[in-house]
Amino acid sequence: MSIPTFPESLIRPQISGIEGYNPLEPLEGFSARVGLLPEHLVKLDANENPYGPSPRVREALASLERYHIYPDPQQTLLRQALGRYVGTSADQIMAGNGSDELIELIARLFLEPGDAILDCPPSFGMYAFAASIQGARVLQVPRRADFSLDVEEIERTFKRDDGNTLVRPKLLFLASPNNPDGSVTPGDDLRRLLALPVVVVLDEAYAEFAGETNVGLVSEYPNLVVLRTLSKWAGLAGLRLGYGVFPPGIIAHLWKIKPPFNTSVAAQAAALASLADAAYLKAGVQRIVEERERLFRELARFDFLRPYPSRANFLLCRVVGRKVKHLQCALEEQGILVRYFTRLELADCIRISAGQPHDTQSLLAALERFQAAGT
Ligand SMILES: *Cc1c(COP(=O)(O)O)cnc(C)c1O
Repeated sequence: MSIPTFPESLIRPQISGIEGYNPLEPLEGFSARVGLLPEHLVKLDANENPYGPSPRVREALASLERYHIYPDPQQTLLRQALGRYVGTSADQIMAGNGSDELIELIARLFLEPGDAILDCPPSFGMYAFAASIQGARVLQVPRRADFSLDVEEIERTFKRDDGNTLVRPKLLFLASPNNPDGSVTPGDDLRRLLALPVVVVLDEAYAEFAGETNVGLVSEYPNLVVLRTLSKWAGLAGLRLGYGVFPPGIIAHLWKIKPPFNTSVAAQAAALASLADAAYLKAGVQRIVEERERLFRELARFDFLRPYPSRANFLLCRVVGRKVKHLQCALEEQGILVRYFTRLELADCIRISAGQPHDTQSLLAALERFQAAGT
């Protein structure tokens, strides 16, 4: 490594040492690479909603007359509507530019260089990313082979005392259902973890697909934060609207560091229109859950695929006896996008989002061709 010269030499040393977040390949890039128009692609790689947003979102955005006015920094109407939706007081809620922004704000609130978080991989990459920007260490307690949490090992992290090297993690990040496998953390495990001297950040991005939430526990535990989003169930991934449910002792300080205009006029209006049409969107969620179950049964019939049971809108699938690279080529040729992994323990896995029935048909046809080709 060469010694940086001015002005790079002024950049925080913690930043020089980290790798950037590796986002998905943009749709236009993939489209050009495989030589198919974007509308002919089958996009099953990012857990997006195949039915899109509520039609009321389009209407609300088309008739919006406040694009030239700054958004309400206090998100008053939106927080009231979100409070009604999840059954908590609006005072406990803050919205963000996606729940990704709330992960970053929580990291900024708690972490300085030398602090640590606890991550339970494989899970969502944003937790370690946000912590490393703060210069914090990422302690890992990997999940077991079935992706359940190793609660005993997590507890040991707080008891371990190897001289003065003890770094107690301040934040424990958990996703339930977990991304990439879709498993849910049982309530007993969660309560044991909440008894630890740590803030538990429970990411429930897929709660609507699982049909259960722990939002109600936030008023019971001063160390529980629950994150939710409209990206998946409400089809607003492109507009960026997530939110958190926080205990009073945390949200008071979070307001002090929130960028005033973090959620746009369009995102706030789209979220309000979605919440007003929740029954319509929930019917879409139901269709996606049914498609996930059908997809599971269909995938399990291929002898080279081992899908894991999932409560989210995607399935993690181990590929056995065939090379993932070969499968990737076969799917890309047909314009089908799924998620691949670089982590060693997931290198032989793919993650497939539940799409519309015709998406499943295209995928199954490509898999049958791949099976028949036998490479
Ligand atoms: C998709 C996803 C999110 C959503 O993030 P947004 O910023 O709200 O789009 C959050 N957490 C997990 C685990 C996810 O998979």
